[in-house]
Amino acid sequence: MTDKLSLVAIFAHPDDEAFGTGGTLARYAAEGVDVHLVTATRGEAGQIANPNIVPDRPMGDLREAELRNACRYFGVKELHLLGYIDGQTTIAPQQEAVYKIVRLLRQIRPQVVISFGPDGIYGHYDHLAVHRWACAAVQLAADEERWPEAGLPYRVPKFYYRAMFAEQVALVERVNGHSYVLMEGIPFPFVGYAPEQITTVIDVRQYVQAKLNGIRCHASQLNPMHPYLQDEFDPLMEEWFFREAYILAQNNLDGYSLPPGEKETDLFAGIR
Ligand SMILES: [Zn+2]
Repeated sequence: MTDKLSLVAIFAHPDDEAFGTGGTLARYAAEGVDVHLVTATRGEAGQIANPNIVPDRPMGDLREAELRNACRYFGVKELHLLGYIDGQTTIAPQQEAVYKIVRLLRQIRPQVVISFGPDGIYGHYDHLAVHRWACAAVQLAADEERWPEAGLPYRVPKFYYRAMFAEQVALVERVNGHSYVLMEGIPFPFVGYAPEQITTVIDVRQYVQAKLNGIRCHASQLNPMHPYLQDEFDPLMEEWFFREAYILAQNNLDGYSLPPGEKETDLFAGIR
């Protein structure tokens, strides 16, 4: 048995942590896990989605403040900002970025790491860059010959990708008439996975209010008509709000295998 559990979530922008994983962060924090959030940028390129919000400071400052507030609701123990610029992660110094994450992984020594998968949810360039950084960092953190000054080597037991069920993407399509995100006028479709590809579903029903409060902190990014902002929104009526899905991308846990024929329901299964 391991006494102190910790989880590291690695994402690109303020609000990336909220929609698909906010309940997971809140649940594990409430269960006593040290939850760390690594966010690559301060959301400098965000567009104000709420016309009632007149920014009183640079966008990165505003979104960092929103993120810090959200972290309080999610119970994040520590927020680690990597200091890259929103929209420019693909031209950031890649080795430096991976080094920073390796150093954090070796310091924190989390049993569970979550990040974007190769889909980047909808292929946002920053999400794809962070996915690659996270994969490389998980690999290199265990490599004793790589960057010994960054800490003792550490093998992450379980590394997960955040994922959407295809069924969830289909629901977005039915409700909105489309299932993409427009970036500079170009539609980037959400990527959904078949049920058999999703390995793990975390039920966060007990934590929906914390998740919703955290999401609402990202006020500058939410149109006032967004369903999550409406008084009548009931998160317990929305299956995809309280079921957060993951793919176990790397299982380095000795003697552990996924439960056959069913979904894993705990990221720390096999550890505690
Ligand atoms: Zn993002």
